Amino acid sequence: MTPAPCDPLPDLPLPDCVEQDWARRAVGLLHGDARRSADTHLLKPVFPGLNGIDIYLKDESTHPTGSLKHRLARSLVLYGICNGLIGAGTTLVEASSGSTAVSEAYFARLLGLPFVAVMTRSTSRQKVAEIERFGGRCHFVERASEVYAAAQAVADQTGGHYLDQFTYAERATDWRGNNNIAESIFAQMAQEPHPEPDWVVMSAGTGGTSATIGRYIRYRALKTRLCVIDVENSVFYDAYRRGDRSLCCSGGSRIEGIGRPRVEPSFLPAVVDHMMRLPDAGSIAAMRVLSDGIFRQVGGSTGANFLGLCLIAARMRAQGRQGALVTLICDSGARYVDSYYSDDWVAAQGLDIAPRMDALRRFLDTGVWDATAGLGPLPD
Ligand SMILES: *Cc1c(COP(=O)(O)O)cnc(C)c1O
Repeated sequence: MTPAPCDPLPDLPLPDCVEQDWARRAVGLLHGDARRSADTHLLKPVFPGLNGIDIYLKDESTHPTGSLKHRLARSLVLYGICNGLIGAGTTLVEASSGSTAVSEAYFARLLGLPFVAVMTRSTSRQKVAEIERFGGRCHFVERASEVYAAAQAVADQTGGHYLDQFTYAERATDWRGNNNIAESIFAQMAQEPHPEPDWVVMSAGTGGTSATIGRYIRYRALKTRLCVIDVENSVFYDAYRRGDRSLCCSGGSRIEGIGRPRVEPSFLPAVVDHMMRLPDAGSIAAMRVLSDGIFRQVGGSTGANFLGLCLIAARMRAQGRQGALVTLICDSGARYVDSYYSDDWVAAQGLDIAPRMDALRRFLDTGVWDATAGLGPLPD
């Protein structure tokens, strides 16, 4: 039998896929940033009063853009590219209390993309300066609750992509590992006397970091529990207690990076074992005491984390228990010289931090907790 003649070539024009070339290069740049980064330190300061309870501080202030948001920004941009939402020339837009925007501005510049940060006018001067130095533009709104709609509007006007950390933080981070913050912490704990800490303590902004830690604890079947810290002017704590995600409040949190006026989609209460809402004066007092103790200035959210850790340590001591506690240094105090480190600012806010600092120092020196010092959780 003679073979049938071949089909003629179909007239099927195929696209050049220049966008894919761009995405390939962009992903290479993001992987490069990760490859050139070392793991962050897990500090182990020794306080005599905490004898028998080892405490660890995961220092996220040493990333190239100064906070734990360096990890998140890289993940969010990677997520956008890999989902086909970010391409050559896409304007990146974010709603932020500042740290995320600083890190995203850095990555936008690395990729040659325009960047717009939508923030409240009260955002620290240092963060605004950093965003602008990375070539980003700042768009200000008056209230924390206005950032979401304003960011979406800027994205619509520019034909850009709203990165939306508050929605995507929990899913842009690989929950099973890939060097996420939880995997890094537990790997660094592996050879310690108590490799499974009793508690990891973390405050919530997007809720993404606590979601990653809580999921990872379950995935690795660890005995560690997760305590999430909330602050004044925020709804996370009430939402957790009442099981109500629809709660809102109008004021903005005074502690930059944490506390939100709505229950962010990335906050996952089901993986949280305990929550406490702490007074801002206590958080700022703890921030200053910790900064003195470790010879480096930390930010306000780190103060909230550290106060939560001290409360749990006090409880463990009262029960005669030993073990380990872990929390995070989220960013450096250099961003807050005009606010939390300014005595004038603290006084103008009506915050009385001196007696709280004294009580906390006494606890760290002697282990004696002063229940009347105004450091404890706020009542429901
Ligand atoms: C974002 C942020 C947090 C909270 O982390 P989330 O993962 O968003 O909950 C804490 N401190 C600072 C300084 C932050 O920027």
